[in-house]
Amino acid sequence: MTELTTAYWHAQASQLTPKSQTFIDGQFVDAASGRTFQSISPIDGRVLADVACCGEVDVDRAVAAARRAFEDGRWADCSPADRKKVLQAFAALIRTNGHELALLETLDMGKPIASSLAVDVRAVSNCFDWFGEAIDKIYDEIAPTPKEAVALITREPLGVVAAVVPWNFPMLMAAWKVAPALAAGNSVVLKPAEQSSLTALRLAELAVEAGVPPGVFNVVTGMGPETGRALGLHMDVDGIFFTGSTQVGKYFMEYSAQSNLKKLGLELGGKSPNIILESYRDTAHAARVSANAAFFNQGEMCTCPSRLVVEKSIHEEVVEVLRETAANFAPGDPLDPATTMGAMVDERHTSRVMSFVDVAHKEGATIATGGKRARLDTGGCYIEPTIFDDVHNKMEVAQQEIFGPMLCVIPVENVDEAITVANDTCFGLAAAVWTDDLTTAHKVSRSVRAGLVYVNCYDADDITVPFGGYKQSGIGRDKSLHALEKYSELKTTWINVGP
Ligand code: NAD
Repeated sequence: MTELTTAYWHAQASQLTPKSQTFIDGQFVDAASGRTFQSISPIDGRVLADVACCGEVDVDRAVAAARRAFEDGRWADCSPADRKKVLQAFAALIRTNGHELALLETLDMGKPIASSLAVDVRAVSNCFDWFGEAIDKIYDEIAPTPKEAVALITREPLGVVAAVVPWNFPMLMAAWKVAPALAAGNSVVLKPAEQSSLTALRLAELAVEAGVPPGVFNVVTGMGPETGRALGLHMDVDGIFFTGSTQVGKYFMEYSAQSNLKKLGLELGGKSPNIILESYRDTAHAARVSANAAFFNQGEMCTCPSRLVVEKSIHEEVVEVLRETAANFAPGDPLDPATTMGAMVDERHTSRVMSFVDVAHKEGATIATGGKRARLDTGGCYIEPTIFDDVHNKMEVAQQEIFGPMLCVIPVENVDEAITVANDTCFGLAAAVWTDDLTTAHKVSRSVRAGLVYVNCYDADDITVPFGGYKQSGIGRDKSLHALEKYSELKTTWINVGP
């Protein structure tokens, strides 16, 4: 068996030629304008590819291909059992090509290769497997009407579905949308983030190899305000499903309103509170798990527990353990399997994240550790794991989504103040509480306004549970059988069987 060493990954990287044309109707093609943009690796600044920069004409072409495929029933009319076979073959191909996909992901957006392989590739293949497996086990309904009629309640695909996704988990965020959309019988046009287009293109190619008919899964690469906007405003897209920032999520609501009132799903930002109480039996364990979750994926996580709300009685101990744990996240070569903290996605994002160090300073927070860029000699984008202590929840660092390895520690007097602080945010994606008191655990989990609540853990995850937020963290849910609802229309059919 191949040993997955740093040398192995570097050798593989030097031989890789990523696909860079856009993918429409089962073919790789250039943008109609011939324009491209550079995909730059945040690991060391190297140019990975010149990627097709799609404009309105290309979006029209992709949507038309998806529409043709939908209307002639080449996928929508396949039996669920047949769609299942193809989706599971696709999942198997993702596993077989796992090294290449993991490498593309790491080179393109900077996350450690060990995570790309063990987390992203595995979760993506599992997602296609799971929705494939589910789709021929879901029954429609017959309503309990009077005996003179039969009323069928059936689910039908929306039609042409567009998915616009971010760069932090490029393949996985795409899979959470594409898998249920395809399982439900839709045709899809996917727009990856411009910072991380490469795995989406390879996935689309593998989908065709697995038997997804051409035109059913298309990818348009390009800039958000051009390619993403064109999809959002398109009159022939039936539903648009977006994961990204809250600001851009609001644009998608406007696009829908300004065009054809297309169905909408939004998975947006977060600033998740993580409450550690003295009633939890092992303060150090809670602090360690919290730091691991805060610095995982360079802190570029929508569910990042970026506000650590802690009772004053255990504040010092918690900060000490956070500092020790942060030391395990020294930025390293993302192609080294031992690296836990890779590169930030690009230079622009790195500068934005770093600007919060000055903000924290000015607002009177203490910098308990970190706060500097790292590995400058590599030409890449690296930031030390950073802890802001003595933060007040009204500070900008506690209210804005930083989306980097920066953790705010907010001391509070008691559980009631912790709940008030937890809810004092425009977001509502995730929250956690650490306590051994069942009543307190229940009280906190009922009181926090968030789509996901963890008790005595953080980032527990499974495809079987819904994922999404309250408040300005979004509308609708990804994952689980609930996700399928977004990609289906409900039809009622009355059949008169009376005299
Ligand atoms: P972003 O909103 O900048 O971009 C997301 C996508 O939208 C990209 O494909 C981009 O090209 C496109 N886009 C950008 N501007 C656009 C415009 N004007 N019109 C149309 N499309 C446009 O987000 P990002 O920086 O890529 O990702 C980080 C954000 O994603 C964070 O806020 C994070 O919390 C959020 N996120 C949320 C979840 C979730 O499930 N709730 C998961 C992952 C990431």
